[in-house]
Amino acid sequence: QAKSQGKAGYQFFSQEMNQVNMRRVALENGMRQGLARGEFYLYFQPQWDLKSLRLTGAEALLRWHSAEFGVVGPDEFIPIAESCGFIFDLGELVLREACLHAVEWGRFCPGLKVAVNISGRQFRQPDFLETVARIVQETGVRPSSLELEFTESVIMERAEKNVHALQALKKMGMKLSIDDFGTGYSSLNYLKHFPIDAIKIDRSFIADLVTDSDDAAIAEAIISMAHSLKLKVIAEGVEGDAQLDFLVERSCDEAQGFYFAPPMPGEDFTGYVKRFSVAEGDLKPLSVAG
Ligand code: C2E
Ligand code: MG
Ligand code: MG
Ligand code: MG
Repeated sequence: QAKSQGKAGYQFFSQEMNQVNMRRVALENGMRQGLARGEFYLYFQPQWDLKSLRLTGAEALLRWHSAEFGVVGPDEFIPIAESCGFIFDLGELVLREACLHAVEWGRFCPGLKVAVNISGRQFRQPDFLETVARIVQETGVRPSSLELEFTESVIMERAEKNVHALQALKKMGMKLSIDDFGTGYSSLNYLKHFPIDAIKIDRSFIADLVTDSDDAAIAEAIISMAHSLKLKVIAEGVEGDAQLDFLVERSCDEAQGFYFAPPMPGEDFTGYVKRFSVAEGDLKPLSVAG
């Protein structure tokens, strides 16, 4: 009896696996067509400086609106793109589009930054540095208006090699940050060896900041450690007043989240920049809500 149960269990399991695999394979093929059809595009989420109450820039977030599958989220398609190697084409598209937008916004808002997520496989690609340099050249973007985001695990993987790659990016003039900080492999030792400018507190710590004293303690510790190491801190996933107050009181440098604005199409962000950016030297606090 145990045997037949085991067998039934196995069949059920393998049926589920088949469905997962079938969607995976379908998405994998759909992605290639989708790229050709222009189904991938970027959204931009505003980032605010909490001290000066100024708009500092935006994070570029990839979207896929597939004719076949509807809207597919990056949490689903990025891992698939990584495992089938499609991330190289996708990563180039993201970089190029982000640079073109940075050039456009830089014309009327100098100093505005665009942050770009870099996946592990993309970073490990032998010609990653050349690709970045080529896109910077082709688009004419000022490298200082680009910020590249890496997760902890990506940076840690081949620590030695990565120091050189990150140094090369810094030399080009880009800003570097660590995304989803606190969720990955945390040997804090690496922070002092890598030429990092900022760390982003993962939104899982921000979510219950106000009600969960453990999350509050962790967020507070990350902020003070970052400042001791002369790194900037960005909080992600800020949704409410109380979270924002907490972060402002503890001198968190920047924040992004639904409280300010959800990710939006590039044209909408153009309007947002025009509405909220202030000219150099015209430092008046802005109302950031709504
Ligand atoms: P991430 O880089 O940590 O991006 C932040 C995610 O939090 C985004 O999800 C954003 O829409 C979401 N978010 C922003 N504010 C709030 C908030 O107030 N509350 C909540 N609950 N969520 C908020 P999204 O756009 O679905 O992206 C998910 C992940 O997919 C990203 O996490 C990033 O790891 C990856 N991703 C997105 N675009 C790219 C890309 O162009 N390249 C690579 N390699 N990965 C990307
Ligand atoms: Mg990110
Ligand atoms: Mg993040
Ligand atoms: Mg993430």
